[in-house]
Amino acid sequence: MKLLSVVLPAYNEEKMIEKAGIVIGQILEEQKIPYEIVFVDDGSKDGTWSEIERTAQKDPHIAGVHFSRNFGKESAMLAGLANTKGDCCVVMDCDLQHPPETLVEMYRLWEQGYEVVEGVKHSRGKESLAHKASAGMFYKLISKAVGIDMSRASDFKLLDRKAVDALLDMPERNAFFRALSAWIGYKTTSVEFDVREREEGESKWSTKSLIRYAITNIVSFSSAPMQFVTGAGVFVFFLAVILGIQTLIHYFTGNAVEGFTTVILLLLLIGSILMISLGIIGYYISKIYEEVKGRPRYLISRKIDSEI
Ligand code: UDP
Ligand code: MG
Repeated sequence: MKLLSVVLPAYNEEKMIEKAGIVIGQILEEQKIPYEIVFVDDGSKDGTWSEIERTAQKDPHIAGVHFSRNFGKESAMLAGLANTKGDCCVVMDCDLQHPPETLVEMYRLWEQGYEVVEGVKHSRGKESLAHKASAGMFYKLISKAVGIDMSRASDFKLLDRKAVDALLDMPERNAFFRALSAWIGYKTTSVEFDVREREEGESKWSTKSLIRYAITNIVSFSSAPMQFVTGAGVFVFFLAVILGIQTLIHYFTGNAVEGFTTVILLLLLIGSILMISLGIIGYYISKIYEEVKGRPRYLISRKIDSEI
């Protein structure tokens, strides 16, 4: 039997720590799967870390990593993976919205030789229409960049040790776990699951943080916005040539005074396209700047090892 490490990023989840540990532990004990559970406290402001310490004292399966501040879920998942000893690792949400029963299914597929098992959302759970529409657009762009359909992708997945090491070897600061795990390849399969309702606490995502998340990940994974800017530039250039010829004809035939409206409209149009383009390019440059600085993706202030 090979060891399974379950990584659970947690931000302000004090009410879920003990429960998650018990529920996951029970299911894996029943199936006689050797396991450890690695909680990553992503700089929580509530009692999450003391809960992790308390449960780790009672249960030797439990390990914990404590960040010096909130670094975000992407960093928390990577830190968790970096602190596992398992032959395979599963990343899942600490709020149990990812059904723990699916863990067993994933582990069995891994035993059959699959190196990556993607959890695919069968239903997206409760979400507003606006959220669904913008998420749809976001995943279309990312799917195109990765070359794999990601519209139902999630962070719930099992990775073989080889795949984990490949992920951890990637030097980029702006790691987008969901897409990177598809990008690395390996023998992959998927299992469907239904997103459950959150039992305790609340979602950490505001509309603003979702928009920021989308932009960061598009920029780190896709150059489509820059291609769009170039395309828009070419389009406006052709428009300029046609209008230029028309203006010259007017000039030589002596009808040059009219056309003020066109000038204003063109100025506004070209001005706004230029500004948007500069903004997009600026975003890429700021990401390059972040990568070049090479700061660590997270800082760990405390750590508990499992005794497995
Ligand atoms: N999370 C985290 N750091 C953050 C925000 C969230 O580690 O900055 C964790 C959170 O504790 C949970 C998971 O990521 O285990 C998913 O977060 P949440 O349930 O808020 O997202 P949703 O399910 O609403 O998409
Ligand atoms: Mg959740």
